[in-house]
Amino acid sequence: MPSRQQELLSLFLRLAPIEGVSHAERAIADEVTTILRRGGVRVLEDDAAGVVKGNAGNLLCFPPSFDGDAPAILLEAHLDTVQSTALLRPVVKEDRVTSDGTTILGADNRMGLSILVDLLLGVAGSKAPHKNFFVALTVCEETGLYGADAIDLSRHNVTAAYVFDCSKRPGIYILESVGLYAYTAQFLGKASHAGVAPEEGVSAIGLAAAAISKLRLGRIDADTTSNIGKIYGGEAVNVVPDKVTIEGEVRSFCPERIKQELEVIERTFEDAVRGAGRLQFKAMPDFEPYVHKPESPAIVKLDCALRAAGLTPQPIRYMGGSDANKYNARGIPAVNIGIGAQKPHSVEEFFLLEDLHKSSGIAHELIQTR
Ligand SMILES: [Zn+2]
Repeated sequence: MPSRQQELLSLFLRLAPIEGVSHAERAIADEVTTILRRGGVRVLEDDAAGVVKGNAGNLLCFPPSFDGDAPAILLEAHLDTVQSTALLRPVVKEDRVTSDGTTILGADNRMGLSILVDLLLGVAGSKAPHKNFFVALTVCEETGLYGADAIDLSRHNVTAAYVFDCSKRPGIYILESVGLYAYTAQFLGKASHAGVAPEEGVSAIGLAAAAISKLRLGRIDADTTSNIGKIYGGEAVNVVPDKVTIEGEVRSFCPERIKQELEVIERTFEDAVRGAGRLQFKAMPDFEPYVHKPESPAIVKLDCALRAAGLTPQPIRYMGGSDANKYNARGIPAVNIGIGAQKPHSVEEFFLLEDLHKSSGIAHELIQTR
């Protein structure tokens, strides 16, 4: 393995086992800050810790040559892991890196993190020209994209953002991503003794069951899905239950379809309780969808960088979200790109060494002047 590639792998092996679950990224944020500052990179930590109720903020990292007044590209990864990696023992095999099978590997997103830290160190230590860019390393991605939601990019002129956080192989990127709204519906009936006075009660479970039976769930159309993921309520088997709560979600590539479907759900639930009980319904956006045109400048630039890195651009539609959705929602064209951190969120998580180096190649090509 060439020494540049060996250095990147060593960096990953150093960063991956550092504790940094969502809302508790202090240790990994400190380590990354120390490494970057020692390498001549300017690092600012924002005040997102207070907003997300965590112990670390987002890190904004600027190469020495960064021009704050000029248009800039943003490269992005997240600091947090979905579970602790403190007990991780990485295993380097001939073609891949895995954990020892007892913990996650944390390649989501320590792989993206290592690639961008390595890029910054390389740029800071070289006189070679490059495009104006900076790096954002966010907190609390896994629990709800909260770090990206809180980050202030308004003082920068960001023309495009590339998020190194898609588990697909390098070359694949998310041209179109769904939006997701979550909802909570509370069905309120009337409690009563189930044996002595059932006539005086109104079963909230009965109301909820009737309501759900009228709902369409699963894939609603080519763009839209609907799910009820949780249902809970009731007190005891001898009590007519007065309260049941349902938690669900709607996803779609089309923002109007999400709103339409939520209206259908609320109306269906209202109809089911009318004359018998009450409904409290609340829907909240987790993230908005994004749809890029293949000919848009951010995509043309990405395709160009992928080809220069020896890859074939493969745009896809994807039913999940990432920090890219948050940037797009505020008008910054952002794309989540595949780095090949496969089987994320499981103890079988792994990446191929070739994918680590290909993804690093993409980062380098994105900032090339040509
Ligand atoms: Zn991730």
